[in-house]
Amino acid sequence: MARIAVGGFQHETNTFSPVPATFADFAAPDAWPGLTRGAAMFEAVAGINLPAAGFVQEARSLHHELVPLAWCSAQPSGRVTRDAFERISAMLLDDLRDCGNLDAVYLDLHGAMVAEHADDADGELLRRVRDVVGANVPVVASLDFHANLSPGMARCATALVAYRTYPHVDMADCGARAARVLHDILRGAQVASYMEQVAFLIPLTSQSTLVEPLQSLMREVESTERAPILSLGILPGFPAADVAECGPSVYGCGSDAFQLATTVRRLAALLLDRESEFALELYTIDQAIAEIRRSAMPRGRPVILADTQDNPGAGGHADTMSLIKALVAADLQRVLAGVICDPGAAARAHAAGEGAQVELSLGAGSGTPGETPLAARFSVIALGDGRFTGTGPFYHGARFELGPMALLELGGIRIAVASRKQQAADQAMFRHLRVEPADNAVLALKSSVHFRADFGPVASRILVVEAPGPNVADPAKLPFRKLRPGMRTSPQRR
Ligand SMILES: [Zn+2]
Repeated sequence: MARIAVGGFQHETNTFSPVPATFADFAAPDAWPGLTRGAAMFEAVAGINLPAAGFVQEARSLHHELVPLAWCSAQPSGRVTRDAFERISAMLLDDLRDCGNLDAVYLDLHGAMVAEHADDADGELLRRVRDVVGANVPVVASLDFHANLSPGMARCATALVAYRTYPHVDMADCGARAARVLHDILRGAQVASYMEQVAFLIPLTSQSTLVEPLQSLMREVESTERAPILSLGILPGFPAADVAECGPSVYGCGSDAFQLATTVRRLAALLLDRESEFALELYTIDQAIAEIRRSAMPRGRPVILADTQDNPGAGGHADTMSLIKALVAADLQRVLAGVICDPGAAARAHAAGEGAQVELSLGAGSGTPGETPLAARFSVIALGDGRFTGTGPFYHGARFELGPMALLELGGIRIAVASRKQQAADQAMFRHLRVEPADNAVLALKSSVHFRADFGPVASRILVVEAPGPNVADPAKLPFRKLRPGMRTSPQRR
């Protein structure tokens, strides 16, 4: 039995977003718990599809003693403020110093966190943790599929274990894998690590593991990871980050350094071979509406429009209205859209009550250039307190706290509104407002890829739409300054 400290600090930073992630953003709950420190932390994450939850469960079943540090996450946004990074890091490090003799440390990290004063914030945190525990205590971290892995992270951690799926249905499972890797290390496995960065950016919407090329590439990773390799991963990266470490990577750790390097290089070459298959496929709003008019629309099988550029799961604010306005203007029927973040509109709907009519200027509160609210008289169809549990494979077990919510109706369109932004990746977000997504002909969702886990099975077609928003779908359109020399900002035919 070993004594293992467990903590987590997750942020995916879109450096092109002007809205920073503050301490208050980490403190507040959303679909996942707010900042929790000490013994309450294990309970806060329990039962949720989160790496920390999977780690705790597996490490306990392996009879290890767990010491809680702090756990927190905030919605993807601009850089993490210096204040937030330093305060949360200090909590983790102070608790680490105070917990006495330790055999190991586990951290639930994202791997694409950028702070105001640290481009490689995860690497900086791992370096500080290493300084506290010394060279001989194993430090294992789990990483998001979208980690922009840095050499500093690989060097400071004994082992890294990354998600294998996008939608991330294996987050808890990844934590359990990290526990097993750490268990092997504690039983004496020697570990070297090796990583290789790959020189082209992969658009988010081309990264789904439900389709090619990542479907077969991740299968290859899974079948290649066996002793003496402890952990192996292709990490496609988070492209909206103007930092030197931005981009895909391949990582492995294990006891045979030569075999490891050969395997990682082989996987990196496989990824490069498939480069052209990652090309972006986007519809303009007009093209998407034309496609809907041409579609057969079978009952119970809606067409899904992924409003990717305003995805709050990648730094959007879930309040651009251009796509919804176009759907209203096209007079489409049986449309369900959301989830729009507009606390003022939600409050006014609650004040008016179910069945009432209310004049609203809906959305566009965050100031995306060119965006204006949808001003109209809406019917208030349903109200909710924003507290419900995730039921889909991605947000499984998540205890949502989205503040007052409302379902508004305008013509043939119903719009779900919340008081906090959250990616529309779980049908429970709509069912909370007593509307069944599959009963609609069209779903317009503020999500890039995660929606596919829960909504994909009911969709007749999925169109990724290029509507306004800060999460620019095509990395080639971003004004990068800090990428590594030779980095291609879009997949090329080679
Ligand atoms: Zn991710």
